[in-house]
Amino acid sequence: MTRAFNFNAGPGPIPEPVLTKAQQEMFNFEQSGAAVMELSHRSSLYENIHFKAIDQLRTILQVPEEFEILFLQGGATLQFSMTAQNFLPKNKKAGFVLTGSWSEKAMKEASAFGGTTVLASSRDSNYNSIPEVDFSSLPDDIAYVHLTTNNTIFGTQWPEIPARGSKPVILDMSSDILSRDIPWENVDLAYAGAQKNAGMAGVTLVFIRKSLMETADSTLPPSISYSQHADKKSLYNTPPTGAIYITKLVTDWILEIGGLDAVKKRAEEKSGILYEMIDDSGGFYSGHAEPGARSNMNVTFRLKTEELENKFLKEASEYGFMGLNGHRSVGGCRASIYNAVPVEHVHALKQFMESFQKNNS
Ligand code: PMP
Repeated sequence: MTRAFNFNAGPGPIPEPVLTKAQQEMFNFEQSGAAVMELSHRSSLYENIHFKAIDQLRTILQVPEEFEILFLQGGATLQFSMTAQNFLPKNKKAGFVLTGSWSEKAMKEASAFGGTTVLASSRDSNYNSIPEVDFSSLPDDIAYVHLTTNNTIFGTQWPEIPARGSKPVILDMSSDILSRDIPWENVDLAYAGAQKNAGMAGVTLVFIRKSLMETADSTLPPSISYSQHADKKSLYNTPPTGAIYITKLVTDWILEIGGLDAVKKRAEEKSGILYEMIDDSGGFYSGHAEPGARSNMNVTFRLKTEELENKFLKEASEYGFMGLNGHRSVGGCRASIYNAVPVEHVHALKQFMESFQKNNS
């Protein structure tokens, strides 16, 4: 069976060793006579997976003990409002840095629960850059700061997580979790849906500083209280056991290939191949993101006309490239090169783009 060159923006490809292992274990996990998804979430067989996944995430990302690691549901989208429900008192505002559609959505969802304000934005330049921010002197009425570390749709990424001031910092890391270092001293809560770099859709990873958790609104229903999920070790209700199992296998794979350093190196190598080719194309392809804000995960580019773009996308799809169309809201082209995309697939895309250019210049 031939596998596609999968450049989907998410859900995206899953490392092949993970799929192979899941296939091998599907009918009879550790001689239990059942698949993982058929086990009780209270069984020790399942709990071993659950806690190993948490431990390995802690190891890979060097998460300090002051943070809880939670497995929640509802996607990154639920975190947009759950963070506000927990940490946005009525008399304060949540401060958003707008760097793309997902930060806009995060702000909109939070605004159902309290005031919001824009601290900085790159909207005027069609989100092709990352704005300058200074969190050291924020107004008193700011409850917390929210930013999106990688902008999946526009293909920009914060090169560094900014230094914190006195206000809590909340990060949406949905599309670059497990591909970069996280300076935990500048972070209070980070969340990410698993379906890009951490496995399959269905589980959301949340890293939360215990001292922040203690400041949450205590009148919330337990199902949306971080403390409740932390007390119950993410087993308050039935967790998405199958998705957590796949995340556990992804953490096995990352550790096997050399941990975060190896993954970071691969990410830089892959994005470097594509950006260099785009820059060397003499304007045939043009990158959307400003060079200092380019994402290592989503490479966004345009061709000179929409007609040429459509021809490119059609031929690419016929050739076996999946997911190269830009997000429906912005058009253009986008190659998402999450951790599971092999370097060889990126070379194949580069060659395809070069030959398309030759045939259409
Ligand atoms: N934030 C970012 C940066 C994303 O890329 C996405 C999904 N593409 C989301 C949030 C929404 O995630 P979900 O669909 O898991 O709710």
